[in-house]
Amino acid sequence: MTAKLINGREIAAGIRQEIAAGVEIRRQQGLRPPGLAVVLVGADQASQIYVRNKRNACEQAGILSMSYDLPADTSQEALEALVDELNDNPAVDGILVQLPLPSHLDGDPILVKIKPDKDVDGFHPYNLGRLVQRRPELRPCTPAGIIALLDSIDTPYTGQHAVIVGASNIVGRPMSMELLLRGATTTVTHRFTPDLGKFVRDADIVIAAAGKPDLVKGEWIKPGATVIDVGINRMPDGSLNGDVEFELAAERAAYITPVPGGVGPMTIAMLLQNTLYAANELHKE
Ligand code: NAD
Repeated sequence: MTAKLINGREIAAGIRQEIAAGVEIRRQQGLRPPGLAVVLVGADQASQIYVRNKRNACEQAGILSMSYDLPADTSQEALEALVDELNDNPAVDGILVQLPLPSHLDGDPILVKIKPDKDVDGFHPYNLGRLVQRRPELRPCTPAGIIALLDSIDTPYTGQHAVIVGASNIVGRPMSMELLLRGATTTVTHRFTPDLGKFVRDADIVIAAAGKPDLVKGEWIKPGATVIDVGINRMPDGSLNGDVEFELAAERAAYITPVPGGVGPMTIAMLLQNTLYAANELHKE
């Protein structure tokens, strides 16, 4: 392997320490701790793990985590009523509704109902619109975390061709806006892109976010490129894999993220950062 690993765990730990220091400054100023309301509907196993990790991370940083665990048969009206209540609660700086929701619930009206200044996931059309217009406020967490990883290796952005594999609302699309904002030339590829390799071969920065193991072939990686693997794929043997052929890609890339331990920890760090930002800048007392 010739590539250097970008250690997301270490970088995220550093950011979480900075957040804890920011929370401590608020305490010394006599301000209340930032508050994050985490809403979980039903008992999806993966969601339960994600939510537990988010709650633990809050507590470690001194952020007040408020838990709302609702039964799987919760109605749309009841969930919307809870969001209304949290919108009006001055102790709540951020509201996170864990996705996916059970199939009888419609997530879109819920996400739109969250007040934009409490939308710490950055999924509200207002916050996505701000990013598109180059004035981001609460930024979608995974793309923001990837920018922090790229900044950690002093990525120059300008003059670089970034190829994003995947065009979802939560990763691919906002990722392209973040990179464009920094001056990269961006290409977004997706399931209807013919000859994916043609695009990836030209990339100085590859962001793989399709959720398909080994979709991005190692031989496609341009020598010296930076490879960020967002994919999380549970393999039949129980292990986790990304979307990139890691071993082969690492022979050619200059930098690469591991799975796990790359992008994943950054997403939570950015959630905490958004919560502290909302408390300090959007909900001034
Ligand atoms: P999604 O299913 O919403 O979107 C997948 C995208 O990949 C779509 O735009 C689709 O067109 C594209 N795609 C599918 N097959 C393709 C192909 N053959 N060639 C090119 N593009 C293709 O997924 P998502 O929510 O964006 O998540 C993507 C992956 O990232 C998943 O594995 C998910 O678990 C992971 N993820 C990780 C984090 C993290 O914190 N590390 C956060 C979010 C998502």
